[in-house]
Amino acid sequence: MAAYITKQRRALLDYLAMHPDESLSAGDIAGALAGAGISVSAVYRNLAALEEEGRIRRVSRGGREAYYQFSDSQDCRDHLHLLCKSCGTTYHMDEEDAETLIRNLIRHEQFLVDRVDTVLYGTCEACQIRKRMEKNHG
Ligand SMILES: [Zn+2]
Ligand SMILES: [Zn+2]
Repeated sequence: MAAYITKQRRALLDYLAMHPDESLSAGDIAGALAGAGISVSAVYRNLAALEEEGRIRRVSRGGREAYYQFSDSQDCRDHLHLLCKSCGTTYHMDEEDAETLIRNLIRHEQFLVDRVDTVLYGTCEACQIRKRMEKNHG
């Protein structure tokens, strides 16, 4: 039984790792893994466990639904991430820029940023352009 759960968890983690720059809802993930015989309740259960283990990160896109992202990549431990609330894409902040920001926060606010947990929410360039065009064309 334990091995079965591990297999499900691995499948879930693999799926998220294959989509590192996307934020996916539990529904998206369950839909993608339905063919692998993983139930929706197993998806929810394993997402919660993986989040607790710090291997995935739960993010918000403004609405009530929670989204999940792979956060266990070694490359991603040293910088910060930017998440577009419109399209859900993650951008990996330049390491030096992140360093400057973190240093300034420590210096001016005496605040130590947790790099792994921190996500800056906003709107990416492509979505800014799209929104501007929508506005201009009614
Ligand atoms: Zn990254
Ligand atoms: Zn965007």
